[in-house]
Amino acid sequence: MPPSRERVYYKALRQALTAVQAEKPLKAKLSHLARITSRCLDAGAAILVTDATGKNLVHTAHWQLPPFFVQKGLLNIEKSLLASGDHEPVLVTDIAGDARVQYPELAAQAEIAAILSQDITRGGRQLGALRVYFKQVPSLNNQDNSFIKAMAQVVGMPLSSASAADTGGKVGDAAGASGAGQLTEFAHQSEREFARMLDFYRIPWAYEPRSFPIGSKSSGAVEMFTPDFFLPDIDTYIELTTMKQSLVTQKNRKVRLFKQQYPGIKINLLYKNDYEKLLAKYGVGPLAESRAHGIKRILFTSADIERRVAEMAERVSADYDGLRPVLIGVQRGFLCFMADLIRRVTVAVEIDYMAISYYSGEKDAGVKVTKDADLSLKDRHILLVEDIVDTGITLNYILNYLKSKQPASVTVCALLDRKARRLIDTELKYIGFELPDEFVVGYGLDFHEEYRNLPYIAIPEIDAPHKGGAGAEP
Ligand code: 5GP
Ligand code: MG
Repeated sequence: MPPSRERVYYKALRQALTAVQAEKPLKAKLSHLARITSRCLDAGAAILVTDATGKNLVHTAHWQLPPFFVQKGLLNIEKSLLASGDHEPVLVTDIAGDARVQYPELAAQAEIAAILSQDITRGGRQLGALRVYFKQVPSLNNQDNSFIKAMAQVVGMPLSSASAADTGGKVGDAAGASGAGQLTEFAHQSEREFARMLDFYRIPWAYEPRSFPIGSKSSGAVEMFTPDFFLPDIDTYIELTTMKQSLVTQKNRKVRLFKQQYPGIKINLLYKNDYEKLLAKYGVGPLAESRAHGIKRILFTSADIERRVAEMAERVSADYDGLRPVLIGVQRGFLCFMADLIRRVTVAVEIDYMAISYYSGEKDAGVKVTKDADLSLKDRHILLVEDIVDTGITLNYILNYLKSKQPASVTVCALLDRKARRLIDTELKYIGFELPDEFVVGYGLDFHEEYRNLPYIAIPEIDAPHKGGAGAEP
């Protein structure tokens, strides 16, 4: 005689409790719990975890589900299947017609006929959802429902302790994102490092949340492209190509196909070289030990700069007449630019400056304002005076910070703009010069604190360290 349902559920819950107490990484525990749920109900099962924004669910562990389905993408929590308040499981049987099913075509392709969802909450906080995917519409009784509820509670145990430990009780900040970091198995060390840097600058991310069909292979199988990161705040995918040059061509082809077929989706590529330069800026990575030996080429002479700054000052003066703006600089590269700009501006201005901490490769609390503006900024017109905008990561953080002070307006005035390396796009109202993809020094900008005092802007002669460290490959 087969064991009774009750017996099966009882055994499964005991196994589940043992699994959460095991000394295993969180992701392994969740996989185990998905497997137990799947076996018990003879269906696919998945555990979805709320991302750092608190707005999306990300597939984190699953069993008996095809890869194209679990990589389908972020699920918007509000539109999703979560039970509304009463925390009862929800069964959806109209896969094609129910608006709460966000990827109905993929569900059909995976031959899913019904989805059972139980939200996972702790202390009123939405930690995620436990989902069961049936190939035939099941008839569920109280016993089945009690099982799924109990199972969701068990899943909530490791989830809540992971996020509590990581966030110190706060939700949706950088530490919340590193909660996701702990759950994520990165394919490359460079991706983990990148995630850590995003955490530092409090930029929410999801790792490989979605796969896009981009064509068919000669075998007839669908070819998929899975971008490395998605940054929900700026609705942009990021692809890190820190791999061998021989693989880059293949990757470029995929990205090209992707861009053709999904013109509405934003994606940014970060090549190995750019990525290492980005890390080197923070003193980490293989290029961190590089040294400069003088100047290779002057890009903008002091006469060029003087002329351009005068033009910018004229526009600023016209736009801010009578508004008495506060010009704010961020230490320390803004010095020369600010000094020249204010001497050309003809309307009344006030000035202030601030400083922030920079990413150092260490896991710490994240970016901090180490010196705040002294003036009260509420209801003021702020003109942020930037030396250079590169990835836009620093600027993004500073703008969010300044906006939290409820100013009347915030506008950016940047002397240099290196669009080629932009990851986070922000409107720059005043731009001095656009830069090629080369590191520059002078006129306030340093290389390891040197060269700030050059009166012009130039490309330094940099030697790359000839160490085995150049490979970020695992
Ligand atoms: P982002 O956050 O936009 O990537 O970087 C902005 C900061 O990186 C700038 O404020 C500056 O301190 C530094 N930075 C970016 N590019 C350069 C460069 O070419 N030369 C120098 N000296 N600093 C740079
Ligand atoms: Mg700066």
